[in-house]
Amino acid sequence: MPELIDVCIPNTHRNYFTYDPGHWTPAIGARIWIPFREKIKLGIVTNTQSLTKVAANRIKTIAGIIDETPLLDQAILQLCHWVSDYYQAPLSEVLPLALPKHFRDGEQPSIPSVDCYQLHIARDEALAQTPHRAHKQCELITWLSACNMPVSRAAIQEAGFQLSILKMLCDKGWVTHTHQPIIETSTLHRTMESPLVLNTEQRDAFEKILPHLDSHQRFLLHGVTGSGKTEIYLQTIAETLQRDRQVLVIVPEIGLTPQLLARFKSRFNAPMAVIHSHLNEQQRQFAWYQAATGKAKIIIGTRTAIFTPLPNLGLIVIDEEHDASLKQMDGVRYSARDTALMRAHMANIPIILGSATPSLESLYNCEQQKFTLLPINQQAMTSIPLKWTISDLRNVRLQEGLSPNTLSTIQRHLNEGNQVLVFINRRGFSPVLLCHQCGWIADCPACDSHLTLHRQANRLICHHCGSQRSLPNTCHKCHSTELIPVGTGTQRLEECLQKQFPTTPLIRIDRDEVRKKDELTKRLKQIYDEKAQLIIGTQMMAKGHHFPRLTLVVVVEADTGFYNQDFRAIERLGQLLTQVAGRAGRAEHPGEVIIQTHFPKHPLLNTLIQRGYRAFADELLEARAKAELPPHHYLAMIRAQSQNPKKVMYFLQQIKIQLQNIPRTKHPSHSNAAYGPAPAPLARKANQHRMQLLIKSSSRKQLQNTLTQLRQWISSTKLDANIRWHIDVDPIDMS
Ligand code: ADP
Ligand code: ZN
Ligand code: ZN
Repeated sequence: MPELIDVCIPNTHRNYFTYDPGHWTPAIGARIWIPFREKIKLGIVTNTQSLTKVAANRIKTIAGIIDETPLLDQAILQLCHWVSDYYQAPLSEVLPLALPKHFRDGEQPSIPSVDCYQLHIARDEALAQTPHRAHKQCELITWLSACNMPVSRAAIQEAGFQLSILKMLCDKGWVTHTHQPIIETSTLHRTMESPLVLNTEQRDAFEKILPHLDSHQRFLLHGVTGSGKTEIYLQTIAETLQRDRQVLVIVPEIGLTPQLLARFKSRFNAPMAVIHSHLNEQQRQFAWYQAATGKAKIIIGTRTAIFTPLPNLGLIVIDEEHDASLKQMDGVRYSARDTALMRAHMANIPIILGSATPSLESLYNCEQQKFTLLPINQQAMTSIPLKWTISDLRNVRLQEGLSPNTLSTIQRHLNEGNQVLVFINRRGFSPVLLCHQCGWIADCPACDSHLTLHRQANRLICHHCGSQRSLPNTCHKCHSTELIPVGTGTQRLEECLQKQFPTTPLIRIDRDEVRKKDELTKRLKQIYDEKAQLIIGTQMMAKGHHFPRLTLVVVVEADTGFYNQDFRAIERLGQLLTQVAGRAGRAEHPGEVIIQTHFPKHPLLNTLIQRGYRAFADELLEARAKAELPPHHYLAMIRAQSQNPKKVMYFLQQIKIQLQNIPRTKHPSHSNAAYGPAPAPLARKANQHRMQLLIKSSSRKQLQNTLTQLRQWISSTKLDANIRWHIDVDPIDMS
């Protein structure tokens, strides 16, 4: 009997199916064609000696092979297997994360080509025939001449030239247009910057990393914004490139700024690939190809980039390792940080996690001596500490959420010609529209939530399901016309501040105002160029950006962090306050932060302000130990939803009963506990009733075993008809 093979078929909710390879001998990781439910589908070979014992008469023969050499290497397959096992997701959902769509459709990787341009006549001749006032044309002629090779349209744009200028030169017949395989940027001429001289703390950190470049070692670089973490990454990367190895840098979506890329490009002449969710399919395929063939030496990307094959990987850097966007919240709910830690372990290479506000998980790992902590306490450019003020809102008459003291401080900073950021994490005009006569509130019919008033669009919008409706003229209950907006969002704050400071140029940055990536870049540039003095911003403004003239940050409302039922809310508040405060007072301008709150005496808030993030985190860690919460214990959340709340409840109750039947490990100190089922904090969203069952364990291994058995049981009992459910391992959001 021939050896059977296991084949993973994307999006089939199974790890693999068993096939007869016929006369073919596909390798592990190769893509093949297989007959599947009356169709021919693409599959990826995961095992050439099948693990299953299926009756031979039911086995089909594969229809052909696509790859002679496997497209996915062993390292990525191994990583995908780990993700599938650990995060309780079928391999058929994990493997697609590692393949650009065209490859999932069966296309062959090829070297994509692009439109390239080259100066065709002598530079001086071209310049002589161009009028002097046509500066831009002259500049482009000079630049193209210096390049002395075909350059891509993207490179020309990146160098700051408009395509209309290029077209003029093409029309004159001076520039030839060809189709070329993409050229590595390293061959373009650029001026490179040299590394900075490290200060003492930076050098200490760097010297701790250096001896471990050839083995697995985990570092947590904890330094405030502006303390020079990026500089340490850059110098460590340089060392890794010296060893002719590749480097993978993972950043949160919002961290992938043009400034960061520019900084990498000005430092390294090595070919880079950038991988993020805004790439089109061709760009993604090309970046993947560059990385997987070892041509790109530095790969900078967001979450999914962790699944890129890198044959010669020598270092992983995770910037802003605490950031929630590193965890995928749908589909395969993996943490890119934890997956990266596993990848570094498997590849036996070092990994550096960096943050101004490390997660409690990572600080705990330092305590446990699993990570090496590299603290940087000083800012690189200034030693003037921030001035924090807690503004007690109790009993104070507020003007659209701002206290008189806050307003006068804003005035003072504006008078001094500085910039001010007013931070509020709520978009729209007001979160509630209320009838003054009878107390009726405009609610979303599909969700258990209120509708947010958007003044500019003149609509009521649900921030949970996205449904919209026009503004009612009268109350739906008593028909009164006295409908009042309650509470403050970015739009209302903008209106109020514009009235208060009518001559100050003001800018608002939130998801409604900035829908596209380049719009954000444009607005950030306005701030850098000091075209805006007063900035109203949400989360989008909290991290990553450095504005040297920004001296005051006002946090309009810190309170939701104190009474949120999610046990991580306080940790997130501390991170947010520290991050947003990091926007203020760089370089020679001392910074000030005002936190408005009704809980001015909150002990953790005071610890944060007086003793810093580390002390704050230590106190939180202690509290978490007492409460037996992560990182001391391990959690998994089983979420289920359907239109029928009774069915959801029954489903989760059955799971809870089954949990008791799963045998435990004999270890005396290991415990499992289940909490719920309970309605999710937003119990109804888009007409779906949502409930959750929380499972807690003192052992990661035991939790994983339990979940694996539970998942098998759910699929085998077919309990889940008409219920949408998933398991979220290490959930970071309890909603
Ligand atoms: P972080 O990544 O921690 O926010 P950066 O590496 O971006 O910090 O550094 C902040 C600023 O300080 C940057 O403008 C950087 O050029 C500068 N800087 C960092 N290290 C040094 C150094 N050793 N000497 C002088 N300037 C430095
Ligand atoms: Zn009414
Ligand atoms: Zn809704």
